[in-house]
Amino acid sequence: MNESDWLEKLGADAYRVMRQQGTERPFTSPFVQWEAGGVYHCKGCNTPLFHTDHQFDAGCGWPSFDRPVEGAPIVTRLDKSHGMIRTEVRCGACDSHLGHVFPDGPAATTGERFCINGICLTRQEAE
Ligand SMILES: [Zn+2]
Repeated sequence: MNESDWLEKLGADAYRVMRQQGTERPFTSPFVQWEAGGVYHCKGCNTPLFHTDHQFDAGCGWPSFDRPVEGAPIVTRLDKSHGMIRTEVRCGACDSHLGHVFPDGPAATTGERFCINGICLTRQEAE
């Protein structure tokens, strides 16, 4: 797809995050609060990426997970934008930006916090 196709598919807000590496405002995603039993799919390609089983309340205002679902095509890369050194999280299936991963997640599990823009996700009920 070219960029105008992406814009049409995603809408302006998701396009800005997923294709232009933007960030949604904190506490704006309905997925910051969650009900169990959901799988979050990539809004760009509908690939399952995260599960509510792995979601936790990080208090940061973005949906937070301690890991992706098994086999999810998550790609990480170094991001030095905005004067910070962070690890960017992308959907490898459609090469869209999703958020960042930080090493301050729950120590009892993975210790990682996948801090994801909810606007990049659609929720479906787990089977
Ligand atoms: Zn995708």
